[in-house]
Amino acid sequence: METAPRVFRDVISQPEAVEELRRSMSQGNDIHHAWLFTGPPGSGRSQIALAFAAALLCSEGGCGFCNSCEMIRAGSHPDVQVLNTERVQISIDEVTEFIDKSLTMPAVGKYRIMVIEDADRMMERTSNLLLKSLEEPPKGTIWMLCAPSEADLLPTIRSRVRRVQLKVPSVESVAMLLVEKYGVPFELAQLSAAQAQSHVGMARRLATNAGARDRRKQALLAALSIVDIPSAMQAAETLAKLGESDGAQLSGEQDEQERKDLMIQLGVSEDQKLTPSARAQLRRLEEAQKRRATRSKRDGLDRIFVDLMGLYRDVLTVQLGAKEFLINPDLAHEINLLAAETSQAQIIRNIEEIEKTRYRIERNVKESLLLDSLAITLRRKKVR
Ligand SMILES: [Zn+2]
Repeated sequence: METAPRVFRDVISQPEAVEELRRSMSQGNDIHHAWLFTGPPGSGRSQIALAFAAALLCSEGGCGFCNSCEMIRAGSHPDVQVLNTERVQISIDEVTEFIDKSLTMPAVGKYRIMVIEDADRMMERTSNLLLKSLEEPPKGTIWMLCAPSEADLLPTIRSRVRRVQLKVPSVESVAMLLVEKYGVPFELAQLSAAQAQSHVGMARRLATNAGARDRRKQALLAALSIVDIPSAMQAAETLAKLGESDGAQLSGEQDEQERKDLMIQLGVSEDQKLTPSARAQLRRLEEAQKRRATRSKRDGLDRIFVDLMGLYRDVLTVQLGAKEFLINPDLAHEINLLAAETSQAQIIRNIEEIEKTRYRIERNVKESLLLDSLAITLRRKKVR
């Protein structure tokens, strides 16, 4: 195996995928024009797509230092377009506009690269629109789609893309990334990577944000405290509040970062007077952020559900005597206690109930009712 270009260094735990891309690049000019990167959320689908884009556009094959590589890292390369959506579905207008961009010639590089981050969020009609472009893209245009799995796309799309499958990175490799890239102390990095179940973005947030860490722990402790109906009602209320505040915090953090990025892009500082066009751009950003805020509470709750499933998975691991690492080693004492006091059947039921609640909340069933009923299911029914 030859060494991969430097731009792939941030792609962690995916040696097979990187090797596949490296090999396809070494076969000369005939790069396939449509790719699909599949893997669970947090496995780095868009990172590897962008690294591949950098490797293709860099005159050194992906040096990581040059102007071209730098621009891709900063998200400002004129020949790399990324479509990402905060909505549940990518709209047909978004795709139409994106396809239009794919028709123009590359501005500075050899290729025009079109990345769609959540290609699974397209309705059939939208997918069909894209299909035409995937079949016969203009010379030099390369499509890179990202989705959880191949099954999330229409068969007609699947048959036109070359698939690169990503794996869930190991806890160790995510921890090392946190240490090396963000200077997180080793133990905290290890704990955060385990708690985030190797989701890189979540692990980084837990490792670098004490508030997020604290809210996560409070949510798990609330679930562990449920022993009867009154404590279930109390916990349901706590979970709702935590979901809301975590959602609001995260979307506030993103808002601020995006505002900063836009100001840098516009080349102005906060105290400078803005031109009308800069003001208009800022307003557009603020409107998009407002739309996102309406989703943030639900997203906050969804993160709590994932964490709770991890907690009960830990309990089940102990009950089954499996030699796996705990997702929540910091709660080992509480987990052991719950494992000893309850049946495996109950814990499995808890996990199933959380999954059902996630599904129903996505479909706009009244959230407080769902949380109450979930909390009642989760109460500790002692077997001994
Ligand atoms: Zn370069």
